[in-house]
Amino acid sequence: MDSNKKISIAIDGPAGAGKSTIAKLISKKLKIVYLDTGAMYRSVALKAIRQNIDTQDAKKVSDLVKDINIEVKHINEEQRIYLDGEDVTDFIRTPEVSIGASNVAVIPEVRIKMVELQRDIASKCSVVMDGRDIGTYVLPNATLKIFLTASIEERAKRRYNEQLLKGITNVSYEEVKNDILYRDKNDSSRAFAPLAKAEDAIELDTTNMNIDEVVSKILGLIEDIC
Ligand code: C5P
Repeated sequence: MDSNKKISIAIDGPAGAGKSTIAKLISKKLKIVYLDTGAMYRSVALKAIRQNIDTQDAKKVSDLVKDINIEVKHINEEQRIYLDGEDVTDFIRTPEVSIGASNVAVIPEVRIKMVELQRDIASKCSVVMDGRDIGTYVLPNATLKIFLTASIEERAKRRYNEQLLKGITNVSYEEVKNDILYRDKNDSSRAFAPLAKAEDAIELDTTNMNIDEVVSKILGLIEDIC
């Protein structure tokens, strides 16, 4: 691969398909920036929740994002997300924020603001970006587009195990599965930039693949292109 060439890799797919795990490994391997776009929507949801604003209230949430300040910094190769100057990285992974993020992500004013920030970052350096609409809307000319999927049972199992590893034991497998089903439906059915596979994206069903296999497969695809 020509390391001087600016590239952008879009990884989209439903919740729990392994996008962030895979994107982080690809970014390390290629020494390019990783951008977790979901963290931005999560930060908007956190701001609404903290102000007791219903995350489905389009009017109030639109007003809220008018003067929101979201910044992404990379510290020790890790993405940290700042909401109005505060590092909120450790507060945006709760089930309440997950559902809230899916709700605020329906609102066009929110998406327009987040996409502006995402495109700005991609214009400055090589990136691997994960989300729902990266290949279809944010970076339609991405160097490589991947659409990651896995069965609902496998995705719920992965998320559930991830939570157990973090010491979260008060959320059951069924609750995790229902949260994912809610978000999948919300994300795929919204009118503006829904979760969808871009026509030129390569779909990878990771149900029976381990992390190394998925990473090798994607690195091979990048090698073929660059
Ligand atoms: O990827 P993650 O699960 O952190 O995303 C949280 C929510 O943010 C998703 O359920 C989705 O509604 C929204 N999102 C989005 N577009 C993106 C990334 C995330 O709508 N590019």
